[in-house]
Amino acid sequence: MNIIRHENKIDANARSINMNQSGLVLWFTGLSGSGKSTIAAEAEAELARLGFCAYLLDGDNLRFGLNENLGFSNADRDENVRRIYETAALFCGAQVITLVSAISPFKKARELAKEKIGAENFCEVYIKADVETCKSRDPKGLYAKALAGEISEFTGVSSPYEEPEQPDIIIDTREVGVDEAVKIIVSYVLEKELGFLLKNILEDGIYAAFDAGKLILDIYKKDFEVEYKSDKTPLTEADRKSNDLICGRLNKYLPYIDILAEESADDKKRLANKFCFIIDPLDGTKEFVKKNGEFTVNIGLAYKNKAVLGVVYAPYLDKLYYAAKNHGAFAHDLNKDIFKLFDADKKIKVSDKVNDLIIVKSRSHSDEKTEALLEKNKHRIKSTADMGSSLKGCMIAEGIADVYYRFGYTMEWDTCAMQCIVEEAGGVFAQGDWSEMLYNRENSLNELGFVILNRLESRLD
Ligand code: ADP
Repeated sequence: MNIIRHENKIDANARSINMNQSGLVLWFTGLSGSGKSTIAAEAEAELARLGFCAYLLDGDNLRFGLNENLGFSNADRDENVRRIYETAALFCGAQVITLVSAISPFKKARELAKEKIGAENFCEVYIKADVETCKSRDPKGLYAKALAGEISEFTGVSSPYEEPEQPDIIIDTREVGVDEAVKIIVSYVLEKELGFLLKNILEDGIYAAFDAGKLILDIYKKDFEVEYKSDKTPLTEADRKSNDLICGRLNKYLPYIDILAEESADDKKRLANKFCFIIDPLDGTKEFVKKNGEFTVNIGLAYKNKAVLGVVYAPYLDKLYYAAKNHGAFAHDLNKDIFKLFDADKKIKVSDKVNDLIIVKSRSHSDEKTEALLEKNKHRIKSTADMGSSLKGCMIAEGIADVYYRFGYTMEWDTCAMQCIVEEAGGVFAQGDWSEMLYNRENSLNELGFVILNRLESRLD
């Protein structure tokens, strides 16, 4: 054969950055009538709604064109699947999220598909339903024809179907409805595409925070009533309205992600979800009530219990901080800057000081333990600064302060967004006993306190 491979000048990584997603093939296999096309088409539409470039290669449709010269003999079925996986491999290389819906009855052919596409980009989805169920559905009238002998070599009737042994996903459509099936598929994609997803969520989270901020400021400028919750913390109309706006917005865009929010009832079904938004709609209500401007909107995201995204917006000061895992941390003073996501000039990092430290303290929660620690370490301390809300952690992330010790109780929503920002800025965030702070826990109380440091060497003893 006189053909020599010609290498393209851009690689998968460069394409992936341009597409803001990485290629993936979801290979739906199962009997005719099991539900492959129905589920794959709904999943394709939902992925498109979420901003992904997704494309469904439907086996039946391809038989009108690419595979029009093939029948249903074993050899033709293998050739049919070969052409589909070759096409899917090209789509995947172009970084498209490719859904394939094809009976693909033979194990060997599916193994070849996986090999060609690459195991890391291949997800075998077994859409399961027994022949009796498929016969009773018979959406295309094909079982009736096969049973009447009008179609020969019909899978499940006169031609075998080899079940997948270890599919990545099994959906038994006798038990799982279409909506639930779509949720399973989309959740799988969200995990695979996490890095890209974070960027999309950041944009949504930031605009939700801006709008919540406007709403909060409208109330801030008026006379507002203050109620006190059972734990004696203040609550205003601004907390409630901001909570509703943010939760409503995020839930509409990403119903697959559960929410833990300060002013919403805690639905513990979140514990079974790898993703959970952790939201404080108005952090620093005491500062809000005191009208000193040091309050924020905090939107965090936990994935597998770790803080992977954070948005902290201070509407009165018009300061925005945000970060996403492996994307860095950023700060914008919106009095001066035009907001542009991931603006390289706005990247922040912690200071590298280990002496002459600037300590941040809570404006509203002073305590003896903090005072004693500061007194003991006063030779290393240059100054202290009081600040409200999660702005304390953001000051460290930005390099204008270095150390914050918090001995008292806080809640997950007080720290999640701030933790991601601190860590992505290169700082240290730990619980009071130096263990890792996890999120989306059964008990949302941060009982051990926490420490934020510009670097580990700044630790106070
Ligand atoms: P396939 O692509 O596997 O041949 P189709 O999606 O064309 O199957 O047809 C499946 C039929 O079964 C459709 O008429 C669909 O409405 C019906 N159906 C019933 N329950 C489900 C379910 N849980 N998931 C998918 N389809 C289902």
